[in-house]
Amino acid sequence: MKRRAVLHSLTPEITCIDDAGESVCYVVCGKERAAVIDTVNGKENLKDVVREITDLPLVVINTHGHVDHVGGNGYFDEAYIHPADLALYQEHYAMVPAGLPSCPLHPIEAGARIDLGGRVLEVVHIAGHTPGSIALLDRRAGYLFSGDAINGQLWMQCPESLKLKDYLKNLEALDAIRPFFSELHNGHNVEGIPASFIDEMKAGVRGLLTYGSAGDDDYPWFRGTAKRHMLRSNAWILYTPDKL
Ligand SMILES: [Zn+2]
Repeated sequence: MKRRAVLHSLTPEITCIDDAGESVCYVVCGKERAAVIDTVNGKENLKDVVREITDLPLVVINTHGHVDHVGGNGYFDEAYIHPADLALYQEHYAMVPAGLPSCPLHPIEAGARIDLGGRVLEVVHIAGHTPGSIALLDRRAGYLFSGDAINGQLWMQCPESLKLKDYLKNLEALDAIRPFFSELHNGHNVEGIPASFIDEMKAGVRGLLTYGSAGDDDYPWFRGTAKRHMLRSNAWILYTPDKL
């Protein structure tokens, strides 16, 4: 089978693993431990790939419960996930193609600090895409690992997605930590995007809540048809009218 993982070194301590263009995950190394942020699709042994990067003890964190971010959990000893995504996790993990049993899960919530030795990841709850979506703040790198909670193709049309007004409040709450990061690194793109994209996203959501969906085109996805709201740059939000 052709290898799926392609490694991209973002800094000497941070590697992005691209899983055949379907989703990405990150390995963040401290002096004592390394964090694995998401486990992609489970279609090849992710732990073997991570071991090409580091021999440090691992702490695995899922940004949310969707199958393309938790699929490789079974290759690891344990993983952390926000409790609000536990039910979603069970539903999605059943879709993992390898049929690998899940590792044990532990809850992780806003404010938790994962000390890797000389580098700390702080858990930030950004409910929206899913109820238990989290981001991880790395002040040392100036990165916010945002999973699917903030990205250029935001999916808010899922049944489990929050209403847009509630997502907006969670974006606004990020103002408190904005001085501590300059780049967003999401769960689908190797390239980071400037933190200022959060302002574009907030403006887009506010526009949608103020003016409604007139002018937004239909966008078919695998569970039906959503609406697509374009942002200033080439980015967009998918949603269904019940999220307004
Ligand atoms: Zn997702």
